[in-house]
Amino acid sequence: MSGDQIIIFDTTLRDGEQSPGCSMNTREKLEVARALVELGVDVIEAGFPIASPGDFDAVRQIAEKFGDRTTICALARSRDEDIEKAKGALVNAAKRRIHVFLATSAIHREFKLKMDKAQIIERAISSVKMAKEFTDDVEFSPEDAARTELDFLCEVVEKTIDAGATTVNIPDTVGYATPNHYFKVISYLKQNVPNINNAIISSHCHDDLGLAVANSLAAIEAGARQVECTINGLGERAGNAALEEIVMALRTRADYYKVHTKINTQKLYPTSHLVSSITGMKVQRNKAIVGQNAFAHEAGIHQHGILQERSTYEIMRPQDVGYVGQNLVLGKHSGRHAFRDRVAQLGFQLDDAATQKAFDDFIALADKKKEVYDSDIVALIENRMEENGDRWKLISFHTSAGSSAIPTATIQLQYLEEPVLCDAAIGDGPIDAVFKAMERIVGLTARLEQFDVRSVSEGKDALGEVRVTINLGGRHFQGKGVSTDIIEAAAAAYLKALNKAVSAGVTA
Ligand SMILES: [Zn+2]
Repeated sequence: MSGDQIIIFDTTLRDGEQSPGCSMNTREKLEVARALVELGVDVIEAGFPIASPGDFDAVRQIAEKFGDRTTICALARSRDEDIEKAKGALVNAAKRRIHVFLATSAIHREFKLKMDKAQIIERAISSVKMAKEFTDDVEFSPEDAARTELDFLCEVVEKTIDAGATTVNIPDTVGYATPNHYFKVISYLKQNVPNINNAIISSHCHDDLGLAVANSLAAIEAGARQVECTINGLGERAGNAALEEIVMALRTRADYYKVHTKINTQKLYPTSHLVSSITGMKVQRNKAIVGQNAFAHEAGIHQHGILQERSTYEIMRPQDVGYVGQNLVLGKHSGRHAFRDRVAQLGFQLDDAATQKAFDDFIALADKKKEVYDSDIVALIENRMEENGDRWKLISFHTSAGSSAIPTATIQLQYLEEPVLCDAAIGDGPIDAVFKAMERIVGLTARLEQFDVRSVSEGKDALGEVRVTINLGGRHFQGKGVSTDIIEAAAAAYLKALNKAVSAGVTA
């Protein structure tokens, strides 16, 4: 690897999945992993195998499927049983990394680990050596490094590199660092650890003070050559450094940083969209790079400038990040061939059966609204993708409501190929009535924790997208539905979430 390439270490599936309400099942993790491989990340941190059998299984499947194309990493505490689990999960990956961590700050040594400095060093060395027996590619993280005494940090880094660590990560675990401070920490390591050139220095920053990306860029300036980050900045608490922001900052300001990444930037927007739709964590409209408004110019004077010469007010082009906007693409008479081409341009790989279904949905939508936009097509296809594996299907629904009527819903559902079941309920409104009628049939009662409606494109006849998060005995499940009828979209979203709960083995 040349000295000016930055290794992009994605931890959406590990740190990102620790965001409250963002847990993913194995099928969803595989889908995200596939997108990350296509995006071109160098390392995928796929999970923490000792955390649960589900985590172990997800890492194992990701390693098996993608471990020949991208390095797959598993996290382990500095404990034998953790490292054994990580090995077990990675065994089928050709490119594999074990990431061992142990806290080094005084506050963690004293209150969490109850170990002194000598014990910390000894434990760190032995776990790096144990991981090294399994793979050459070993990463060590002194947890809470940003709050660790600098000289002790240097000692830990030197000893773990001697023991075989090929990457040393310097985590700002609690989001305490500021750019200049973090720059100095990395520079200090470069100047004071004699064997530092035998390993790659990595950053891992949290956004508690809104500085995760700025700190990561400061680390690169100081000589770090790996950045740990997540799609949409997901992660513990306020989140991690946003991958899309770091990558585009390095690319847009290549004149200054003089480094590059292997990221296929045109996949940034589709990947962001996928992660948001799987986790149910919406991207704020004004979010840098991937927010809906990131490329919208409102002020007249800016619009005028853009029309004369785009670079007057635009430092990146929407197409550089694969932005899918309100492009008017197709109408009812566009035909199958044009539709298939457009779907491919939007980044989907569909087989013939899936293409046919998507085309049927498109024709049905084009019948209802005159103009079909890129964002509509993306919503339709994702809606179909989401259906895979659902046991309960919505056959029909009917609602009635009004200012003086009691809101009522009648629902027909079918479980696999069994006879269609029908039930009815009243509620606070028609959507509430629909949810209650569904719960009566499925036999589960959930708490609705989040309910969001947005319009997918423009106009009064636009597709509406509803997202729900439900809570069943402390477990969270997300669902999404799209339709030009908001009640139908809500019904589809709620049934999707119930289906996920049923698949996960939740019973009444
Ligand atoms: Zn973290």
